[in-house]
Amino acid sequence: MTANEIRDSFKKFFESKQHAIVPSAPMVIKDDPTLMFTNAGMNQWKDIILGTRDPEPRRRADTQKCLRVSGKHNDLEEVGHDTYHHTMFEMLGNWSFGDYFKEGAIDMAWEYLVDVLKLNPADLYVTVFEGSPEENIPRDDEAARYWAKHVPEDHIINGNKHDNFWEMGDTGPCGPCSEIHVDSRTPEQRKASGISGRDLVNKDDPQVIEIWNLVFMQFNRKADGSLEKLSMNVIDTGMGFERLVRMLQGKHSNYDTDIFQPIIKAEEQITGLKYTTFEDGEVSKEQEAINVAMRVCADHLRAVSFSIADGQLPSNAKAGYVIRRILRRAVRYAYTFLGQKEAFLYKLVPTLVHEMGDAFPELKAQQQLISKVMKEEEDAFLRTLDKGISLLDKAMEEIRSKGEKELDGVQAFRLFDTYGFPLDLTELICRENGFTVNEAQFDVEMQKQKERARNAAAVENSDWVELAAGEQQFVGYDYTEYECHILRYRKVTQKKNEFYELVLDYTPFYGEMGGQVGDCGVLVNEAETIEIIDTKRENNQSVHIVKQLPKDPSAQFMACVDTDKRDASAANHTATHLLDYALKQVLGDHVEQKGSFVSPDTLRFDFSHFEKVSDEQLRQVERMVNEMIREDIPLDEHRDVPFDEAKKLGAIALFGEKYGDKVRVVRFGPSCEFCGGIHAKATGKIGFFKIISESSVAAGIRRIEAKTGKECEELLYATEDMLKAVKAFFNNAKDLQGVIQKYIEEHDSMKKDIEQFQAERVQALAKDLVARGRQVNGVTVITGKFEMMANAAKDLVFKVRELHPESLVCVVGTVFDGKPLLNVMLSDDMVKDHGLNAGQLVREAAKLMQGGGGGQPHFASAGGKNPDGLSAAIDKVVELASL
Ligand code: ATP
Ligand code: MG
Repeated sequence: MTANEIRDSFKKFFESKQHAIVPSAPMVIKDDPTLMFTNAGMNQWKDIILGTRDPEPRRRADTQKCLRVSGKHNDLEEVGHDTYHHTMFEMLGNWSFGDYFKEGAIDMAWEYLVDVLKLNPADLYVTVFEGSPEENIPRDDEAARYWAKHVPEDHIINGNKHDNFWEMGDTGPCGPCSEIHVDSRTPEQRKASGISGRDLVNKDDPQVIEIWNLVFMQFNRKADGSLEKLSMNVIDTGMGFERLVRMLQGKHSNYDTDIFQPIIKAEEQITGLKYTTFEDGEVSKEQEAINVAMRVCADHLRAVSFSIADGQLPSNAKAGYVIRRILRRAVRYAYTFLGQKEAFLYKLVPTLVHEMGDAFPELKAQQQLISKVMKEEEDAFLRTLDKGISLLDKAMEEIRSKGEKELDGVQAFRLFDTYGFPLDLTELICRENGFTVNEAQFDVEMQKQKERARNAAAVENSDWVELAAGEQQFVGYDYTEYECHILRYRKVTQKKNEFYELVLDYTPFYGEMGGQVGDCGVLVNEAETIEIIDTKRENNQSVHIVKQLPKDPSAQFMACVDTDKRDASAANHTATHLLDYALKQVLGDHVEQKGSFVSPDTLRFDFSHFEKVSDEQLRQVERMVNEMIREDIPLDEHRDVPFDEAKKLGAIALFGEKYGDKVRVVRFGPSCEFCGGIHAKATGKIGFFKIISESSVAAGIRRIEAKTGKECEELLYATEDMLKAVKAFFNNAKDLQGVIQKYIEEHDSMKKDIEQFQAERVQALAKDLVARGRQVNGVTVITGKFEMMANAAKDLVFKVRELHPESLVCVVGTVFDGKPLLNVMLSDDMVKDHGLNAGQLVREAAKLMQGGGGGQPHFASAGGKNPDGLSAAIDKVVELASL
């Protein structure tokens, strides 16, 4: 079976078991402060598991794009070195939310692997949780009993808490799990090792690996560490698709399957090097380094491409920085082991799109953007590498001159930290030059930095205090004030700051989402008024941030949104929709939203476009948006529309955005988008729209910043005031442009006149100086003191030398703006035959006017602070020349 067929068979199997087949959530997570990337299939169901979202349909299955490069799951350093961990991989999963539990999950997994896919049961081992006496959790005998229906006792292995007890985080849902492992060793390998597969489970053997993990969530862990029963049992399973494909295709490395081979073939073609597979047997150390590098590149190509397609570009902060680091790791391996000194990865994009573009259309649709961004990132990092290498060369030169053999770890860390120069590369280059690196010192520096980062980010959440049961209802599309109670609250401590998070039963407050900032406002009743300083969105709910708790948290309140700010944000949000529409009209359909930010006073919109937007195009966009504002098009809003119906309405969905089964569609005339944001009741509320700037944020991505309504009014006033002030400079001339033009022309011509005048003056002065020169032992000594600018003084002494090219010592002092300047000019013979040096003379003499300077042997100059010392300095030069 091909990989694509295997993916389909999984979906078909679980469909036949009444599971709803759902799409993968985006790999990049945008609205969860605790997680940057999807690292497991269950992430997108977190709010169902936590009980804040409707669990229907209770059976679901999908293939989920995952990325494990940060936080709790970080496999980055393994990737490429082993053959079964990837950064980005697909996780096949099936879920039951309060429907079937352990028995159903175990039976279905077994049926799929053995009856449908025909894996050999003799090669399969399963693990069950051995129990934890200190937590008072018994062994998972229940799971063991169900497994015993399918496998012999000696294929059931007890596992410890590390491998067989799953937890969502420090707090929250958790429970025992059962893993399925496959022994994929060849008969020869089994014979040679003499160890049974059973004894290799969870022992990091590359041929006995876990493929599927069935998690049985039945507990909730509280902040004090204790466990309570979960109100709804949850089945959450995850199977590594690439590992499954490898087993079914009879391969011994994920990279030997049809998922990776086309990419590796493309690498071979570009580099002229060869990749060896498992079947080729043991290879040399050099060949293994090439193999590792090719695996790294094939893997990272996928991670970076999918991330860009999901809207997360490489950048220098947060999720963007993680992506940048992955890409740089690939560049480094290609640079060092595949001899690629120029951008390389982007050349593999067409192969990836050819292989995966059908299953993941977002790749196909954005191929050009992916290639462009990748190439630019590669180029930039290669330049950094070059810089790092030359710095390292310098550092090695230094240790060599000291007769030492070791580069200190602080330097190695600086290279790593500022130039992205990883330790292994530094070590490699050092080794090639016969040096070592002080690794221990490097580790100390690294540790220090990690601690700094940890201290800066530390957030402490207390347990939620439940005041009442229930789910939150958001009423903010229709109301800005609403009666409410607090359902639950908790204390949060961040960098010693304390605040509280509140969840209300009914709330008109919009939580920050989709680029629109959260509402602020107040909670009031007769007894008190509590300020809500911000509203965030977490697990599908608005979480209100307050500095202090009400005295009586269980009282009834009125939740009141600050409507001035809300209206301004809403107008700006509506304006971004109109802007998006107008950009597509003016620039073309390739324009794709890549980010937006909407606050009460500004709006920002990022979109894909491959060149600067011209002034004319910007003006066209502005005119179009303002036309739509004047038409006062009313908001046409559709809530809870099934996704497919919304698409039929012509709504624009974004790549990398997560949509539920039911969506909200926002339409203003021809502009129609999927959107959960707060909008103006009609476009007229925007008032006026004006673009402030257009710039580039990354390869292929442009950014427009704009203002609306009152902000535009202020802008107009500021511009008008400035213009008035400028007019006043020109006596309020009617034709301001013409007058300024005339001034500029006059200024230019005056400048020319002055220059000519100065040249003439210099010429005359030079002649005069030469005529007045003194003769001292056959040398002409010329001195003088004038008021003039520095450049004229320099011209003057050069002119003197031109008129008198031999046996000349010329010292000219000038003052301009109260500052003295000393110039010394010597003829060549004075330098060669008399051993004079203008630089030395000027430096010594300048001390008399509290200054310093230098220059060449025949000409030098020095500035100073004290003009009164200038004459003495001139005399000093002549004296020092000792003619
Ligand atoms: P391992 O011990 O092999 O790292 P895990 O315990 O981290 O696996 P789970 O978190 O249980 O794995 O994830 C479920 C399944 O996802 C695993 O059984 C495996 O098939 C797959 N998987 C996990 N990590 C990776 C990875 N980095 N690359 C590819 N597949 C993976
Ligand atoms: Mg792991």
